[in-house]
Parts: sequence; structure tokens; C-alpha cells
Amino acid sequence: MVLYLNGEIVDEREALIPVWDRGVLFGDGLFETVRAYDGKPFRMSRHLERLRRGCAELRITGIPADGEIEAAVSDLYRTNVGEGDAYIRITLTGGTYDGGKTLARPADPNVFIVVQPYGGYPERFYRQGMCLTVSSLRRNPDSPLSRVKSNNYLDTLVAKQEASDCGADDAVVLNSDGYLAEGTSSNLFLVMGESLATPAADCGLLPGITREVVMELCDNLRLPCVTGYFTLEDLLDCDEAFLTVSTGEIVPVASVDRETIGEICPGAVTLRLHRAYGDLVKVELGLP
Ligand code: PLP
Repeated sequence: MVLYLNGEIVDEREALIPVWDRGVLFGDGLFETVRAYDGKPFRMSRHLERLRRGCAELRITGIPADGEIEAAVSDLYRTNVGEGDAYIRITLTGGTYDGGKTLARPADPNVFIVVQPYGGYPERFYRQGMCLTVSSLRRNPDSPLSRVKSNNYLDTLVAKQEASDCGADDAVVLNSDGYLAEGTSSNLFLVMGESLATPAADCGLLPGITREVVMELCDNLRLPCVTGYFTLEDLLDCDEAFLTVSTGEIVPVASVDRETIGEICPGAVTLRLHRAYGDLVKVELGLP
């Protein structure tokens, strides 16, 4: 497999990051994960906008232009994938550590892009829904780490490990005030009747591109969707719940800590939105 590293297309065995890189030492940096359908990345411009917002927040400068990133993604798709769906990961780091422990850095981020074949989430998640647990970790709404897609992913790894240790597929994460925030690497929606709700952006969550698409779809389908502060009880009482993430689209939730959500999973609204999501992807990307 080849990848993009700092302007070059190189074999993965030659793609090396210096040990003095701030990403290696501190987890300093950001990434984006984008799904391509038949070679066409979905909502790439929104992902790149989020990446640039994150760079502004963390004061990372010197990242390549969108056109260069997009051209590299096409090149890598042609060489590594050829046909079908692909997983795209664009990663940038804080560059060389020069002894300073602030956000001031030399403007030399290491930027690398990986594009590989992708088969999507396991089918059983869409047929039966995911079984979640409630993470013991909390998102901190005051920390930039909860609103940027940071290379420091340890909280997520810990939360996913906790879920795996208790036999769950994934976890829901509350914030430090006890309100629902999101999934470990996804956003969360609750469905009551034909109305939807999702935690507000200031609950300590990454504002997902898929979350944004689902809100657009709700508008188009005239399904009311509000943002706000919701509790675990709200989640347990709702008729349907689902997670949203670029790589998995809309993933139904069957249970939380073994308490079943609603009467049937996947529920009618979740299915309707997932079908609408698939249609939107096709229309937007000009796919048959
Ligand atoms: N929240 C977190 C913490 C994530 O890591 C992700 C994606 O990986 C999401 C939400 C969903 O974001 P998106 O819909 O842009 O994939």
C-alpha cells in the first residue's frame, strides 16, 4: 500500500514519522475519517472545514491546501483500492518538538493520508442494533479535546475497552454534568414517536458530519429534531436510538446496559433516515 506523506506518495514501509514529532510525544494533532462511496468521498469539504477549524483552535499552521489533499486522496484510491468503497484517514501532527510546551510550534506539521478498501460496519449492527454500555469516563465540555478530532484518542480507546470487557459493542458517554454527550466515536440521537433529539454542541461532543447530515434529512423529511440537554433516563425511555458516524452512517442502538430501547430495533424512523441517507449519498455523489 502507498500513502501520502508531506507532499509525496510513498510506500507505507518508507512512511516514517520522527520520534521528536509532537504527535508521537503528546498526541498533538488532528485527523479526519471520511468514507468514499465507489471512489467518491462523501462531504469531503465539510471534513476539511472541520479539520481547519480544529487547526485554528489548536493553532496548527502549515497544512496543505484542500486541492492537494483531494488530489492525493484520488491518487491513493486509484492505486490502493481501484473500485468500491474506501476508508480515508487524513492525519496531521503538531510537527517537531523544540522544547516548548505550549501551542507555539514550528510550522511543520507532518501530514499523512491513508486510503484503503472498506467494507463498512458489521451487518448485524444494522439488523439487530448495537448493545451499548455507559462509559465510566466523562466528556469535559470545557476541554478542546471534546470538540476537535484530536490524535489523542486514549479516552475513546479506554471507553471502547470497558465496553468490550463487559461484552457490549460500544459505549455511550456522558459529560461531566451528567448529561448525554455522544458515543465513544459517534454522535447519538434519540427518537420519541416521530421526533428526534440529539445532545447540543456544548455538551462536550465532536460535532459530527453525519450528525449534521441527519439533521438536514430530518428537515427534508419534516421530522422535528431538537438539540438540548438529555439524560440517561431520556435515552432509556425513548422509542429508538441510533449512533451516527461517517464510517458507519446510521447505526441502531438495541440496548443500554442490557435495558432494551423501545419495542423494535431497528425502529421505523431509524430505518427511514438510513434509507434517506443512502439516497442522499447517491444523489450527491452522482452514483447509480
Ligand atoms: N464523536 C467522536 C468522538 C468521533 O470520534 C466521531 C467520529 O469518529 C464522531 C463523533 C462522528 O463524527 P463524523 O460523523 O464526522 O464521522
